[in-house]
This record gives sequence, structure tokens and C-alpha cells, in this order.
Amino acid sequence: MNTLVTKLSPSEISIFPEYDNHAEVYRFENSAVGLRGYISIHRKRGKLSTGGTRFFPFQSDADALRDGLRLSAAMTAKCVVSGLPYGGAKGVIIGDPKVIKTEALLLAYAEVVESLDGAFRTGEDVGMTEGDVQIMMTQSRFFNGKSDVAGDPSPYASLSVYVTMKEAARLHMQKENLDGCAVSIKGLGKVGEGLVDLLSREDTRMVGADIDPAREAHILTLDPSFSFLPVEEVAYAPCDIFAPCAMGKEVRFDNLSRFQSKIICGGANNQLETPSLAAAIADRGVLYVPDYLANAGGVINVSDELEEDGYHKERVISRINNLVMVLRDCYTDAQLRKITLAESVSDFVQTHI
Ligand code: NAD
Repeated sequence: MNTLVTKLSPSEISIFPEYDNHAEVYRFENSAVGLRGYISIHRKRGKLSTGGTRFFPFQSDADALRDGLRLSAAMTAKCVVSGLPYGGAKGVIIGDPKVIKTEALLLAYAEVVESLDGAFRTGEDVGMTEGDVQIMMTQSRFFNGKSDVAGDPSPYASLSVYVTMKEAARLHMQKENLDGCAVSIKGLGKVGEGLVDLLSREDTRMVGADIDPAREAHILTLDPSFSFLPVEEVAYAPCDIFAPCAMGKEVRFDNLSRFQSKIICGGANNQLETPSLAAAIADRGVLYVPDYLANAGGVINVSDELEEDGYHKERVISRINNLVMVLRDCYTDAQLRKITLAESVSDFVQTHI
């Protein structure tokens, strides 16, 4: 293998606030194919740790490492709320996939994953496609998302956003369904598109935005009545529900006062700039459904390939519907204990880890 893989020591990474006593963190680099990034294994539960691989033009190596540390911790939480016996992990590759992604680079990354001998199972995330995963599977046994089995996790991430959004509207707005609700969606990629598809079956009014005009044009072909807002305004639209489905850090202290929705529930990972924002959001009467609960459908789908009896779509759907029960129980618990929903779900994770 021509890629240099280095295990980072806790002293090298404990300076970052996202470090949470991670089990193992690796740096990899192969300049011949332009590959560089990190694999973060947050917890080792059961036989393996799992989480997708993000391919993104991070501003710096430190940004990439921090994103991986935080995303891998969220993966542990996703596995716990989903009833999956795995630890969380994440791969991040630095660079613009539209510019530097080649078959040679993907195969070199797959070799890195293979060298970890099954400790890390991965699949697609932002910047990766189902097709990329099929290429990497030729080099490593440790990729999830076979085209003819679980395939693309995005429709299932969209489904878990949809079912938790419906339940959030029932709990927080006393709505038996989403008819008549206005929903704003930021990011109309794979997860956003799936959400548009599901919401278009209800009598909802949708507005949205994507920085990529091609994605907006594509959404119009699916739903000609879909309305668009400028990217910088869509999060603050006067809607009932805001669904962040692009990148993270959508809610920050510097923009908190601008949100007008009653519920925030979407597919993006790491929606809050810092976890302490959850209390400030609740103080404004807004129900924030923790991202790792709302979007857990993706990992539920791909990790079903790991079950001893093979992939079963019925089990995937049943586990996604069970997220609604977790949301309902935690909402009740939060009300009883006078804490935020985010705190209650976090306590659920700590109790069941
Ligand atoms: P994607 O790359 O298909 O879509 C993301 C979209 O967001 C793109 O169309 C992009 O142009 C757009 N975007 C980026 N920055 C934007 C901005 N500032 N404003 C508006 N639009 C912007 O990715 P995806 O698979 O749909 O994932 C979306 C989010 O959901 C990510 O945070 C991802 O980590 C998370 N997620 C995805 C899955 C999955 O199965 N795909 C599962 C769980 C969580």
C-alpha cells in the first residue's frame, strides 16, 4: 500500500473541543493520487464501528479532523437511538470531489479502510455516490451500500426525517398530519430531494433553496409547484418547520433570533454550531429534533447488510418507525423533567450505550 496511515495519539487531538476520548483516530495520505484525510472511530461497541465517508473541500486539515471527530460521535448516538449494536465512526477526505475524485484515489482510500481489518465499516456521505462505493468495494470488504442490497442510504435518511417531523408536529403543534404546514428546506441534494418527494404526498407548502442551480431545476421537474427563496434567506422563512438538509452549523448564536419556524427537523449532520444552543432554541419555544435522531434512517438502512440473516427492508422500516417512539418517549421525559428534548435524547443515548 502506497498510502501512509498514521495513528494519532490522544495528546495530538485532545486540544480540539470535538475530542471525546475517541477510541482510535488515523490520518492517511497518498500524494500520488491526491488522497488525504482522517478516519475517526469514536466508540467500539459490538464487533465494529460504522459511519459514512465525507468527501469535502475542507478549509484546513484541522477543520477536516474536527468534523470527523464530531460526526463520528454523532454516529455513536445514531446507532444507539436506532437500536444498532455498533459504535460510531467517520471518514473524511479533504478536497473538492468534483475536481480531485478519481478511481485511483477511491481505490487508495478503500485500501486504507481494508487495512483497518473490519474495525471501520463505511459507505457514502456528502461528496460520495453509490457508484463510488461499488468501486471501493472491489478493494475492500468493509463498505456498506451494495447496489443490489441496501444501496443508497439517502431515501431512508429522508424517510426518518419525514416520520420524526410528523411526530414533532403532532407533539409540538398538535397536528395530526402535515396538511396545511409550511416547510422550508435548505439543501436539495439526495436527502432534500427525498424529503420533497415524501412531503409532496401531503398537503404541505414547501419552499427551499440550494446553492447548485442544477439541483433547484431538478426539484422543479419533480414538483412544479415548489417555490424557491434565496439561499441566505431560506432558513429564516416564516414557516412552521425548517428542515436543514445541506451542511452543518445551520443554527448559531449569531443567527438564532432570525428563525421563525416552530420546529427544526432535518437531515443535515451537526446542525447546531455548539450543543449548548439546544437550550437557547427551546427558550424561544422552538422544538429542535436532534439531527442524529432525525436522520438515523441512513445508517439503519446500510448497516442492515451486516445482519446475520442478510438485508431485510421490513426490518429497516420497522427500525425507522421506532425512532418515532424514541422521540415520543424523550419528549414526554423532557416535559416531566423540564429539560430540552436534546438533553433527554442525549440522556437516552448515555443510558443505552
Ligand atoms: P448531497 O451532497 O446530495 O446534498 C447536499 C446539498 O446541499 C447539495 O445539493 C448542495 O449543493 C447543497 N448545499 C451545500 N451547501 C449549501 C448551502 N450553504 N445552502 C444551500 N444548499 C447547500 O448530500 P446529502 O446526502 O443529501 O446529505 C445532506 C446532509 O444530510 C449532510 O449533512 C449529510 O451529512 C446528511 N446525511 C446524509 C445521509 C445520507 O444518507 N445521504 C444520511 C444522514 C445524514
